[in-house]
Amino acid sequence: MGVKRILITGAAGFLGSHLCDKFIAEGYHVIGMDNLITGDLKNISHLFKHASFEFYHHDVTTFVHVPGRLDYILHFASPASPIDYLKIPIQTLKVGSLGTHNLLGLAKEKNARILIASTSEVYGDPQVHPQDENYYGNVNTIGPRGVYDEAKRFQESITMAYHRFHGLETRIARIFNTYGPRMRLNDGRVIPAFIGQALRGEDLTVFGDGSQTRSFCYIDDQVEGIFRLLLSDYVLPVNIGNPEEISIKEFAEEIIALTGTSQKIVYKELPKDDPLQRQPNIAKAREILNWKPTVDRSEGMNSTYTYFKNLSLEELQKKEHKDFTDHIRK
Ligand code: UDP
Repeated sequence: MGVKRILITGAAGFLGSHLCDKFIAEGYHVIGMDNLITGDLKNISHLFKHASFEFYHHDVTTFVHVPGRLDYILHFASPASPIDYLKIPIQTLKVGSLGTHNLLGLAKEKNARILIASTSEVYGDPQVHPQDENYYGNVNTIGPRGVYDEAKRFQESITMAYHRFHGLETRIARIFNTYGPRMRLNDGRVIPAFIGQALRGEDLTVFGDGSQTRSFCYIDDQVEGIFRLLLSDYVLPVNIGNPEEISIKEFAEEIIALTGTSQKIVYKELPKDDPLQRQPNIAKAREILNWKPTVDRSEGMNSTYTYFKNLSLEELQKKEHKDFTDHIRK
């Protein structure tokens, strides 16, 4: 048998890079893959010295070849913020659909178990609260988030089809808002947005009246949940997230207190189809994985703030969103 070999797509991203760290620490041989559109090599540069880490610069929407044996695949390649969906909508659709198809094919070829990163976005703007895995969701197929939401819904369907039709070993994690070090500063998500604004001495932009809610899970908890799900024998989707819910306005106030900024809150228009509420029901993860979050928001936000504070001034001042145009095939 020897050392277990795992392929992690989206390896240079926020979740992917932490998963690489986890599986290296657990003694696996990790093969990272990323096309570096939204990922950044600096997130995994510390791993290049490990003999048990390899990296392929590859776009998984084209045929994926990995030499040698594979025991596991984690498919975590995808843009993951509403600004990204607007800038690279077709790539977002392709990585969730074509990319997933390629990786399922690879898993079948290698006889590997595959876990796919699904999302709370499959629930859309939910009419059931909190959201459990039996809720079918309320998604606008043609709205700005539709490219992500529908790609992820398709991803779940094709994954279950490979499981049922080919007997493939599959796992589906429905990931709720997750935060921590290595989030991209300018990806538009609320946590890097607020912390970046506080560090630059700008007002904090709350969208809408800030009464919409989210529930934020710290990265270490998320990684542990995914690790347990991969090694479990449970095939249906499992929510992984932290049920502690907060309104965005209250959250902005927490960040003002955390950072000690003298700036204030300014209100901006609420983006289209922004879910009004989101909170995972994690009864299934508790029961099946014996998992629950252990890092509370104040602890998690402290280490996240420390990470952003230590970024270079140049990086902090880079206000434009990462320019994708060089990477995009016509
Ligand atoms: N948000 C905000 N100000 C910002 C960025 C985001 O008020 O500068 C809000 C956004 O409208 C949403 C929530 O924060 O209601 C979380 O946004 P994010 O993009 O982080 O994730 P998602 O909407 O996908 O949960």
